[in-house]
Amino acid sequence: MHVRAIYPGTFDPITKGHYDVAKRASLMFDELVIGVAASPNKNPFFSLEERVELAQEVVADLPNVQVREFTGLLVEFAKEVEGQVIIRGLRAISDFEYEVQIAGVNRHLSPSIETVFIAASQDYTFLSSSIVREIAKLGGDVSSFIHPRVLQAFAVKLG
Ligand code: ADP
Repeated sequence: MHVRAIYPGTFDPITKGHYDVAKRASLMFDELVIGVAASPNKNPFFSLEERVELAQEVVADLPNVQVREFTGLLVEFAKEVEGQVIIRGLRAISDFEYEVQIAGVNRHLSPSIETVFIAASQDYTFLSSSIVREIAKLGGDVSSFIHPRVLQAFAVKLG
């Protein structure tokens, strides 16, 4: 059986924590599609095009991973790309409540799609895109949290 998994998120921007989850998922499933959500309600710092492009460059070394953008319902995107599994990362208990709720809603909307949680690696349990954005905006060093290409994108964007 060929299993295609989807790893959805806002990826504003993609961090080493996201990369770690994507790499581990790519080893567990035949194919992984990173779904970059438009997430207009989150008012992202990087545009959808920028987030997709950065994700593509960061995961370029993972041969069975592709990056797509999507708007609207995750389960619709999953059907569109014929994904059977949704991957989500769990960092702390604080992620758990929300993630389990969303997984329940998605199961209700589309019972054949299974959500699989991947626990964050020890090194990245504290890492989030929002923390990286905050530090970068304040001029702090975020080089250990993101790919050099993402660092460069911050430099361009923040002038
Ligand atoms: P969303 O807006 O959907 O929460 P994010 O880009 O913030 O999008 O996160 C996408 C997914 O990646 C979520 O499941 C989140 O829990 C997970 N994630 C984010 N950062 C990390 C990390 N450092 N380690 C493991 N998983 C992470």
